[in-house]
Parts: sequence; structure tokens; C-alpha cells
Amino acid sequence: MKNSEILTCFQCGTCTGSCPSGKYTSLNVRRIIKDSIKKDISEQLDLWMCTTCYNCQERCPRGIKVTDAILSLREKAVKNGKILPAHRAVCKFLIEMGHAVPIDDIHIAIREKIGLAQPETVTKYPRALKDVKTLLASTGFDELIK
Ligand code: SF4
Ligand code: SF4
Repeated sequence: MKNSEILTCFQCGTCTGSCPSGKYTSLNVRRIIKDSIKKDISEQLDLWMCTTCYNCQERCPRGIKVTDAILSLREKAVKNGKILPAHRAVCKFLIEMGHAVPIDDIHIAIREKIGLAQPETVTKYPRALKDVKTLLASTGFDELIK
């Protein structure tokens, strides 16, 4: 999104008032927009509290693409190496297993015990997993996570 769009924010707070996540977390989307104009906010944890529901973006009277701005700020944070440990762990699973939440040996054993095969996912097929790894490497995703 263009920086000039964000500069039209007049701090009305409609975004914050519309934000379901802000009701339960420290996320204050109006403040994020304000701060992002002045400084690098890659370190702000609130950036990761947004559920990307797009309420704020739909309601902003200035037509600012608020949610898209948050996604851009997250992208910048990740490129600066600011990834929460839990997110990094999930990304590693994706790189190594082809799944953000892969099945583990315990659950494979439980499934076998009750006569269920391993789920039909990429993890089951080494060739497909290799393809996923190649794809992720070609985008530079694996380098980002390192
Ligand atoms: S709703 Fe739009 S104009 Fe109002 S504070 Fe949020 S981003 Fe700024
Ligand atoms: S998109 Fe994010 S910041 Fe906007 S209202 Fe939804 S949770 Fe809040």
C-alpha cells in the first residue's frame, strides 16, 4: 500500500472500535497506524494480534487499507528477522514436514492401533514432500526462517 494513504489517517479510531481482536488483546490498530508513520514497529508484539478479519479496512472512513498495511508491516518485520518463536517453530515444521501442524509418531501409532492409515497428506509421500521443500526453497522462505 502507498504510504500516502496512511498519511490520510485522521486518528478517528473507527478501526480500533471495529476490531474484535482488540477487545481481548492489547492490539490497538489506530495506534499501530500512527506509530508506523513515525518509526519501525517490527518489534511490536501487537502486530501479531490481528486476525486479518478486515473489519477495520471495510470501515475506515478514509478508505485506508488497514489490514493490508498490517500484513505489509508483518512482512517487513519478518524480513528484519523479527519472528516470534512460536511462528518460527510452525514455519520450521512446514519446511521440514510440509505441514504447519504435522502428525507425530504417537498419533501415527494410535491410528495404526485402531486400523487407520496415515492421513493422506504430503508427509506420507516423500516425493511430494521433496517438491514442497524445493518450492519453499525457491521462494527464499527457508532462508527467512533460518
Ligand atoms: S479508521 Fe482509518 S482514519 Fe480512522 S484511525 Fe483507523 S486508519 Fe485512521
Ligand atoms: S483486520 Fe486485524 S486489526 Fe483489523 S479489525 Fe480485524 S483483527 Fe482488528
